[in-house]
Amino acid sequence: MFGQGLLKGLAITWKELFTRKVTVQYPEERLPLPARFHGRFELDVDKCIACGLCASACPNKVIQMERAKVGKRQYLTKYVMRIEYCMFCGFCVEACNKDALRFTHIINMNQYFRDKVRLVLVDRPAPEVIPEEEPAEAPEGRAAKPKAGAAGKGKAPEGEG
Ligand code: SF4
Ligand code: SF4
Repeated sequence: MFGQGLLKGLAITWKELFTRKVTVQYPEERLPLPARFHGRFELDVDKCIACGLCASACPNKVIQMERAKVGKRQYLTKYVMRIEYCMFCGFCVEACNKDALRFTHIINMNQYFRDKVRLVLVDRPAPEVIPEEEPAEAPEGRAAKPKAGAAGKGKAPEGEG
């Protein structure tokens, strides 16, 4: 019949007029993010032992670290993420066996200038001594001397939090 296609199209238009709207008026409205959403990174410097596992795990060489030897320990002095090359795969977070590196739910990381895009999570000088340097009674199988070079691409040892 002539005009049947037109009627079908109009029927769809009318039906859509009365269905529930799914458009979200961002940024005034936001959808709830899933618990494991990969947003901006955060680093807990108190937990970080500057082992370099996260940097080794990153396929895009996003993570740049600097560290200094203070006493017997490695002290993290700089932790910069070249976030413009990050694909938010999460390998670095998985590799961190101290749960120091995490994703947050922050999604707004846009900047006006390219040189501001980098995420500087730590930038501090090394102290002369680390005050609370306690003699680590290392539980079996976990020595207190993580070495950057020893960082393989594998997972963290099991049973350590
Ligand atoms: S999320 Fe993936 S690409 Fe981004 S820094 Fe971590 S390992 Fe690298
Ligand atoms: S893997 Fe974790 S503890 Fe090691 S340097 Fe990265 S953030 Fe720090």
